Amino acid sequence: METMEAILREKFGISEEVLKFCLQKEAELSQEFAQIDRITEYNQYKVLAAMQKNRLSDAHFAATTGYGYNDLGRDTLEQIYADVFGAEAALVRPQLISGTHALTVALAGNLRPGDELLSPVGAPYDTLQGVIGIRAEKGSLAEYGITYRQVDLLEGDRFDWEGIRNAINEKTKLVTIQRSKGYEWRKSFSVAEICELITFVKSIKSDVICMVDNCYGEFVETIEPYEVGADLVVGSLIKNPGGGLAPIGGYIVGKTEYVENAAYRLSAPGLGKEVGATLGITPSLTQGLFQAPQVVGGSLKTALFAAQVYDALGFGVLPAAKEVRADIVQLIQFGSAKKVIAFCRGIQKAAPVDSYVAPEPWDMPGYDCPVIMAAGAFVQGSSIELSADAPIKPPYNVYMQGGLSWHHGKIGIMISLQTLLEEGLVKLP
Ligand SMILES: *Cc1c(COP(=O)(O)O)cnc(C)c1O
Repeated sequence: METMEAILREKFGISEEVLKFCLQKEAELSQEFAQIDRITEYNQYKVLAAMQKNRLSDAHFAATTGYGYNDLGRDTLEQIYADVFGAEAALVRPQLISGTHALTVALAGNLRPGDELLSPVGAPYDTLQGVIGIRAEKGSLAEYGITYRQVDLLEGDRFDWEGIRNAINEKTKLVTIQRSKGYEWRKSFSVAEICELITFVKSIKSDVICMVDNCYGEFVETIEPYEVGADLVVGSLIKNPGGGLAPIGGYIVGKTEYVENAAYRLSAPGLGKEVGATLGITPSLTQGLFQAPQVVGGSLKTALFAAQVYDALGFGVLPAAKEVRADIVQLIQFGSAKKVIAFCRGIQKAAPVDSYVAPEPWDMPGYDCPVIMAAGAFVQGSSIELSADAPIKPPYNVYMQGGLSWHHGKIGIMISLQTLLEEGLVKLP
């Protein structure tokens, strides 16, 4: 039998010095890893309990077609989601084709002409800017007479309490709070911070709907935003809660009325949640949810490990390795295009799918500069699988996330470092 060192050297080209350095960085994280394991364990039991409570059975895994009336598996999975997130109701559908779509449906279903939408955490995720109409797009909320206000974060990523108070008015109907940093250099908000924000908003206007964009945040903590006062919580199934197995989908959980409003928008007024065939993917969505706590735990370890490795090499990292996490995204500031490209190539080389292709920066629609993406994923665009993307412009940040298992994440980071080293772009200390 080959030793592990031999496999890493011969099959993956990882040198002894890289391995030694990385193992040392891993060892420095033992306490943090133990804490991640405790969160994973808690969330695993939470998910299992919800499945048992709802008497999940293999009868639920049958496919429906056509209208999809009486799809018991779909309805059961939605009840399981509601229980896992501590909410009243859930909409979990393959017809929600992405996180952006789920957020769009939640917004459009709950806002009416004349209403105002408020973001108290600065600019929302890039694609949402088109949805809202901050950037002009056909069919935006702005075209339907829904206005928008934004209160930027203060220095140090603090909430601008005074600004938020002044922005809330008689038209304010919905407040959208993005948990994850997205493609910004800012911190991601913990559930406790989101709680503080929602409590403040509701103290000014109690009937405002508080929606949390939960993308990348699910199962990172032991509580979720609905449990601290959010009315709607929205995310993508090809991120955390799909556990890498969901081939498509989004979810909206929250108060029954608001989830129903979203369902009427997704299908049609009068039809709502009653329709929507699942075409046989309920087993993947359900098993994905079951695996999700474990997969998120592996992704978190990967993020910490990357931070610990690249911080030791002198690169800026956000969050710092030992900082408490609110999402699975790790930012690394490389300071040069060459280093960004080498890092992304290393991540791609470690992929189970398409490991033999070298990603190149390209002019992606909607971006003001070339973007490079490393993703050798089983599910196209899945960012719960080990992936990295970077706009090729100063300060040359890479956004890295995912990892279906910790050990895959680990080898991805090791190969990225090996690639940088071989191109003479870093030196080990
Ligand atoms: C990924 C993401 C979205 C949009 O999800 P897509 O599935 O890519 O459309 C929205 N908000 C945040 C914070 C995200 O990370």
